[in-house]
Amino acid sequence: MINKVKDSCDALIIVTVFFKTIMTMKRDEQIHRIQDREKIWDFVVIGGGATGLGCAVDAASRGYQVALLEQDDFAKCTSSRSTKLVHGGVRYLQKGDVMLVLEALHERGRMKANAPHLVKNQSFVIANYTWWDNFLYFCGLTLYDLLSLGFGYGHSKFIRKESVLHRLPAIKEKGLKGGIVYHDGQFDDSRMAVNLAQTCIEQGGVVINHFKVSEILHDDQGKVCGVRAIDKETGKLYELKAKAVINAAGIFVDEVMKLDAPGHKPMVKPSQGVHLVLDMKFLQGQDALMVPKTSDGRVLFAVPWHNRVVVGTTDVLRDHPESEPRALEEEIDFILKTAGLYMVPAPTRKDIISVFAGQRPLAAPKKEGKSAKEISRSHKIIVSDNGLITITGGKWTSYRLMAEDTVDKAIAMNLVEKRKCITKHLKIHGWRQDPDLTSHYYIYGSDEPALHQLEQETDKYAEKISPKYAYTYGEVIWAVRHEMARTLDDVLARRVRLLYIDAQEALNVAPKVAEVMASELNMPESWVEEQVKSFTAIANNYIVER
Ligand SMILES: Cc1cc2nc3c(=O)[nH]c(=O)nc-3n(C[C@H](O)[C@H](O)[C@H](O)COP(=O)(O)OP(=O)(O)OC[C@H]3O[C@@H](n4cnc5c(N)ncnc54)[C@H](O)[C@@H]3O)c2cc1C
Repeated sequence: MINKVKDSCDALIIVTVFFKTIMTMKRDEQIHRIQDREKIWDFVVIGGGATGLGCAVDAASRGYQVALLEQDDFAKCTSSRSTKLVHGGVRYLQKGDVMLVLEALHERGRMKANAPHLVKNQSFVIANYTWWDNFLYFCGLTLYDLLSLGFGYGHSKFIRKESVLHRLPAIKEKGLKGGIVYHDGQFDDSRMAVNLAQTCIEQGGVVINHFKVSEILHDDQGKVCGVRAIDKETGKLYELKAKAVINAAGIFVDEVMKLDAPGHKPMVKPSQGVHLVLDMKFLQGQDALMVPKTSDGRVLFAVPWHNRVVVGTTDVLRDHPESEPRALEEEIDFILKTAGLYMVPAPTRKDIISVFAGQRPLAAPKKEGKSAKEISRSHKIIVSDNGLITITGGKWTSYRLMAEDTVDKAIAMNLVEKRKCITKHLKIHGWRQDPDLTSHYYIYGSDEPALHQLEQETDKYAEKISPKYAYTYGEVIWAVRHEMARTLDDVLARRVRLLYIDAQEALNVAPKVAEVMASELNMPESWVEEQVKSFTAIANNYIVER
């Protein structure tokens, strides 16, 4: 009887999911919805990272007409390269930025409530080698708990040396005086981006990837009134008229601001952060390690993620923004050296399974010589003389609040009529309480039953793409059919995360995955060759020479 009820519930979920996603998350259908050149959109959003997708979801859920255009793939840039933390930012507390922490702690709670299938409670251990540090971090984290009252993930506590060793068997024992356990959130960033894109569509919005905004349109008074954009797959140009245009181009916001005003002076400085991906033997448990003060005065995390350990990060100002930045040798060496002070055995270059770099869009320092860690991490909304709204800075955790502020700004400018924000309690696509985190399928949330159904369609779809990992060809097909994956990189980097989990294995499976994608997308053999070539160029950035 119970099984029957469960089966019919699953069937209902499948039908609902099919209805919601099959009908909508198709690129050609989305493009069809922007054909009407006379239509005036309430919002056009430039950029499909956390910030742009947040804005599009906010606007669509308030009932506005919104179209989001992303030049590459959703979360292609910074939003797939984070430390994967949903956090208040313990280190900002060290700097006394209490309001920033308070704001982020509230958003941390909302993100877990709205996307419980992707955001999980993660315990962190700070291993201390002086009694003073035990006292200091206990006080600091108790304040962190107090600030998160009502939105908390769990209480911080002091633990004895034996307990630190039990939780972190690979931690250096010599001189250990105990530790502090505290809680934050952990998530899958690019999966969250895909789910936000789906949520936007379900709320009536349009989202399109591989679609670059090449011009900002101005009316007779010189005010921003839309964009011209190019479909990178066909080369076809489109024009979208809009009441408000939001520039959420991350590290590329200056380029978009130049499209609005050619004399615009750059205001964002990219700051690069690198992560190394290691085997779980360097943690050996489900607790994360937090190093509160590295030799350059930053924090370092070693966090379990998809059965690997993600260790990072660095903070190095760069001259130019890059969508595929490469880790610098000095960054790799710094992380290995710092991790080696705490982990036994110390990780070496040959232990690196993957390395990834991302760039933060930090507001450029007013004073020359300011280092990246001194620049404020809060978000900023800038309105140009012509009315282009630019949103920059902030972090993944605050994406919802940043979006609310940005849409409110357009209302305050009288560009659109007033409507109330509803995202504080808006469930994100895939919402599912208590996911089974032992299965790699948990990231699909409520889509999981429909995905399994698809895997049963043919023997091939049930087959694994690699003997070393559980990912199936069914997941590749799912990504193409229901998640707008268009390239090999879209699938292997941001739908299934194999590039991040094992860069060499991602390269090994690339030709076969490309073949399967080609048959689904109706692409010729030459497409397979091109895809493998361009993916190889990307993946080589994730492999460290030994
Ligand atoms: C190393 C590192 C670690 C981090 N860790 C965390 C963390 O653990 N937790 C946390 O909360 N935050 C973290 N952050 C911060 C967080 O990742 C960023 O704040 C967030 O991802 C920025 O999102 P975004 O949408 O502004 O930028 P992006 O993700 O870069 O998105 C901008 C998008 O705009 C597109 N675009 C640019 N120009 C155009 C155009 N002309 N037309 C169309 N599209 C265009 C780009 O292709 C890009 O996809 C981290 C950041 C870094 C760098």
